[in-house]
Amino acid sequence: MKPSPFEYHLPDTLDEALDLMAEHGDAARPLAGGQSLVPMMAFRLARPSVVVDLNQLSDLTRIEASGVRVVLGAMVRERAAERSETLARSVPLIAWALPLIGHEAIRTRGTVGGSLAHCDPAGELPAVAVATGATITARSQRRGERTIPAEEFFLGHFTSALADDELLTHVSFPAAGAGNGAAFEEMSRRHGDFAVVGVACQLRVTDGIINDARVVLTGVAEIPFRATRAETVLVGATADAASFQEAADAVSCDIDPPSDLHGTAAYRRYVAGVLTRRALRKAVVETVGGT
Ligand SMILES: Cc1cc2nc3c(=O)[nH]c(=O)nc-3n(C[C@H](O)[C@H](O)[C@H](O)COP(=O)(O)OP(=O)(O)OC[C@H]3O[C@@H](n4cnc5c(N)ncnc54)[C@H](O)[C@@H]3O)c2cc1C
Repeated sequence: MKPSPFEYHLPDTLDEALDLMAEHGDAARPLAGGQSLVPMMAFRLARPSVVVDLNQLSDLTRIEASGVRVVLGAMVRERAAERSETLARSVPLIAWALPLIGHEAIRTRGTVGGSLAHCDPAGELPAVAVATGATITARSQRRGERTIPAEEFFLGHFTSALADDELLTHVSFPAAGAGNGAAFEEMSRRHGDFAVVGVACQLRVTDGIINDARVVLTGVAEIPFRATRAETVLVGATADAASFQEAADAVSCDIDPPSDLHGTAAYRRYVAGVLTRRALRKAVVETVGGT
């Protein structure tokens, strides 16, 4: 199918893009990598009458590391982030997750900001943002800039906290320190498919004891699911197979996943437990600076 008719704008600056968003409100949609928006328009699942193309905004393509945080501009391509050694060193969870997104060709166009703004419940980057405690910065011409904790950004199926006139400008990830380990495990039917279930986890381990844990799942709820009871099980526990099993059992018990053509709720619950156990084990092996 062809998209319904739309006006196309290619602003040169963020200010111009924000002016267009302010002028056209909910009639406008920003275009980043186009990997989700263009198919949605072609299927007429999205019918913006104005498209604001962000691809000239070089200010939004920076990767900046300060030692304690790494900031990614919204227009950083997923593939560029995947190739960044700074990012892999400072935020190892994102380095695990990025290669799992679609295929290389998709990641070459797809952007970090587009993936977050799109809010796909099966997406890897929303789960990474929640698991790492990232913050997302949005800007509008009328109200200026605001920073939203990732946990408050994802509101529902393809629904974010962004207002109609706002653009996501950058995302800031805390750098993982000594004793931190991370892993992302997922199950998809074929390489490159969206995962049926995914688990992002980040741990801090000192002398064999877990003193911080984040476990976040994809594909089991409308937004990234933070497994808080599993986290409580883990904090203060020895980093061993028994603790990982207890946390995995808590995850399987606490989620209420959907059934669809990719798998029943019972199947997803089972897979979520298995992947949680695997991810925790891997995160401990990957712990920076030893345990
Ligand atoms: C075959 C295929 C397989 C894929 N597999 C996966 C996968 O396994 N995991 C995964 O996570 N993703 C997957 N994707 C999606 C891919 O990661 C997309 O790149 C991503 O979802 C959207 O990023 P984009 O830059 O292409 O955004 P676009 O498609 O351009 O935009 C997506 C949405 O975000 C909005 N938007 C974009 N940028 C901004 C901004 N700066 N501020 C405000 N709103 C903005 C747009 O208006 C639109 O509503 C797949 C895509 C395809 C085609």
